[in-house]
Amino acid sequence: MNCPKCGKPMLPNTNKKNPKAPDWKCGDPNCKFKWDSASKDWVPSDWVTGAWNDKNESSFKIDRIADLEKRVKIIEDLLRTRWNVEVNG
Ligand SMILES: [Zn+2]
Repeated sequence: MNCPKCGKPMLPNTNKKNPKAPDWKCGDPNCKFKWDSASKDWVPSDWVTGAWNDKNESSFKIDRIADLEKRVKIIEDLLRTRWNVEVNG
């Protein structure tokens, strides 16, 4: 997960006490913004930029796994056809 504001890697907010607290925090402590849904823009905030896990995360993961399986198939085919490597399974 990268910061939606600055693009730097975000850190998981593992010990969050407030259930409304973000699941992720920007790795840059000077990156302090929040999304303002009224102006649809980032506005300065007192808190490090945070992000929440998508509520559709589980379906997102299933899509990702299906995508990865497709890629593995492509790599297996390449190994077989280009280097004659037989992949088990
Ligand atoms: Zn950031």
